[in-house]
Amino acid sequence: MGNGLYGMDTGFADRQALDEAKLAKLKTQLRRVYDQSRFHGDRFDAVGFDPGRLQTLDDLKHAPFMDKIQERASQAESQAAGITSLGMHIVCDPRDVVRISSTSGTTGTPTFTGYTAADTEVTAEIMRRSMPITGASHGDVVLHAFVMSMWIAGLPVADVLQMAGFTVVPIGGQSGPERFAVTARAVMPVQMNCTPSYARWMADTLRDDFGIDAAEFGIRRLVFSGEPGGSIPEIRDRLSELWGGADIFDGIGASHSSFFASINCQHNVGLHWLADDYVHLEVLDPTTGESLPLDDGVTGEAVYTALEKECAPAIRFRSGDRIVVRRGRCQCGRDTIRYSIEGRVDDMLLVRGVNVFPAAVQAVVNRFGDKGVGSTMRIVLNSPPPVQEPPLPVRVELVDAIDPASNAALAAEISEAVSRELRFRCAVELVPPGTLAAFQTDKNQKQQIFERAYES
Ligand SMILES: [Zn+2]
Repeated sequence: MGNGLYGMDTGFADRQALDEAKLAKLKTQLRRVYDQSRFHGDRFDAVGFDPGRLQTLDDLKHAPFMDKIQERASQAESQAAGITSLGMHIVCDPRDVVRISSTSGTTGTPTFTGYTAADTEVTAEIMRRSMPITGASHGDVVLHAFVMSMWIAGLPVADVLQMAGFTVVPIGGQSGPERFAVTARAVMPVQMNCTPSYARWMADTLRDDFGIDAAEFGIRRLVFSGEPGGSIPEIRDRLSELWGGADIFDGIGASHSSFFASINCQHNVGLHWLADDYVHLEVLDPTTGESLPLDDGVTGEAVYTALEKECAPAIRFRSGDRIVVRRGRCQCGRDTIRYSIEGRVDDMLLVRGVNVFPAAVQAVVNRFGDKGVGSTMRIVLNSPPPVQEPPLPVRVELVDAIDPASNAALAAEISEAVSRELRFRCAVELVPPGTLAAFQTDKNQKQQIFERAYES
């Protein structure tokens, strides 16, 4: 482990030195966005926030939030005016933007994010910090199995992997199993980056349709992103087994700050936050909107402020991710802030006044893995979310078919466990293997948790 703060080579001796550096960066960043963007300027003025009077990092709480809706409106305005695709909130010269990528855009118009060369370098630096954690080293061959599109996990991450020192094989997410096998045998990958459902689907298909054991490729680590799964013990164990005992990691980004920002270590007790000196993290109480102290166990929405990003920096950008903060030194020796993602704030359902998060339901279901219950699950929505009537239908796929009588008993047992622990009524239906199509995903390969049974 390197010297310095966090047991990592960040260049800061202690928390105070880090906070001082962050405050200086924050002052510069806020002054810049205030002076250069009418969008930010007007919003700051509207709430009487003067960036020149910022004394502490905590004072940031007086600045207004930004969210996806405002971002979309800002981009619609700058596009209509023929200025830029990136919104009225950009603060760099558009000619300095080297890459434009798009978010998943599952609802309505996609939004666009720009990166300057310096913005990309910051993400590469954070990627380098992750390498001692995963055991990666210079020249490790990576099969990058995400759709090679402008979606962030595709080309943008492939670039950053190269900059961080990996040998990148951008196999993409759409090559068939045969092509995958031929390539993997030839390039001898050490690591594969993909979604958990892709890893599952590929291993299953290779085995069932081609008689190929995914273990033969010798891939030593799987780095997941794009959907939850890499942090769920039952899913990790299954995928590790399918891929010959590979180590499993989950890597995620921070909206409009850095498209790679955290990764779990082999102890899997939360994601290590590796971007602390580049991105200021806040956790927001979902009901009061207050910024909470980052103490162990604190839960809320992750809000990011990019301290150095040049193009269109997140300034208190509401990520929509619901996280739980972990503090204290990890078993790996690093004492970074850690957190787990508990789902999306807007995935929340309301069942008779109880907040229901799909990730929480999934966690209960996953505990029945030793009884033949798989990790593929859908919540059936009978009306537009969030309000649903109980019992909430939950379809869960079995790993192996079991007889109807034990099937019904097991379904009742899971429903009971969910009701007891999460305080709402659900009706679990266990379905035969293959029913839910493990690889039923949206166009960005994200596994779908909801099944919409209503007319929209
Ligand atoms: Zn650790």
